[in-house]
Amino acid sequence: MEKQEQLYEGKAKKVFRTSDPEVYWVSYKDDATAFNGEKKGTIVGKGELNNRISAIFFSLLKERGVDNHFVKLLSATEQLVRRVEIIPLEVVIRNIAAGSLAKRLGLEEGTVLPQPVVEFYYKDDALGDPLINDSHIQVLGIADDSTVQTMERIGLRVNEILQAFLRERKVILVDFKLEFGRAADGSVLLADEISPDTCRFWDEETREKLDKDRFRRDLGDVEQAYQEMLRRIGGDFDV
Ligand code: UDP
Repeated sequence: MEKQEQLYEGKAKKVFRTSDPEVYWVSYKDDATAFNGEKKGTIVGKGELNNRISAIFFSLLKERGVDNHFVKLLSATEQLVRRVEIIPLEVVIRNIAAGSLAKRLGLEEGTVLPQPVVEFYYKDDALGDPLINDSHIQVLGIADDSTVQTMERIGLRVNEILQAFLRERKVILVDFKLEFGRAADGSVLLADEISPDTCRFWDEETREKLDKDRFRRDLGDVEQAYQEMLRRIGGDFDV
């Protein structure tokens, strides 16, 4: 498999075509952004850590029956994925109130939610990725009802799998964001990344943050936190 022309460069990753039209080559970057791009920085080693962490989570999900775009790890910072057309919705699943939910509903950060909360955000930089509901999604023609239901069902299953896996490793899965794409056969496929950039992870004992909130809130030791997450999930070895 060889890397061909670059198709896209996002905030955290570059995507390239390959000799197989159904397979893309993803290269993870060290660049970090927050607050819709207002805060920018570099986290040394982040590309490698997120590439490895995401590969472990996607492999685990595949093993547990949640099909996804991950094909294989290529190098420390690169992986192959199946081509999908990204549906412009971010699906956020929450177990504990934090971030925008704590603010919006006036809940204290750390409040345990009696059941998982599912939210949809419209991926649109100009609008600042607004929270939207089912009828907004229908009115804008972003996805049909059954696609939205499929994303919600898979999201809740991913939550169960990751929560159980992380609990054994003394990590609390506070919340996370998923993205889905449409595969060549029309099916809805889990895609993008699952990493400390897209999840909130708290140490079970100390409640220390092991995720991008260390960057967002200038808490320091960002790289160390990502490294610790990789170690907890068993990926601190060479590929
Ligand atoms: N998230 C993400 N990308 C975004 C917005 C949120 O990956 O563009 C993740 C974030 O890391 C957290 C969850 O989604 O795990 C919920 O984020 P929230 O709505 O609380 O927003 P934030 O506080 O991150 O602005």
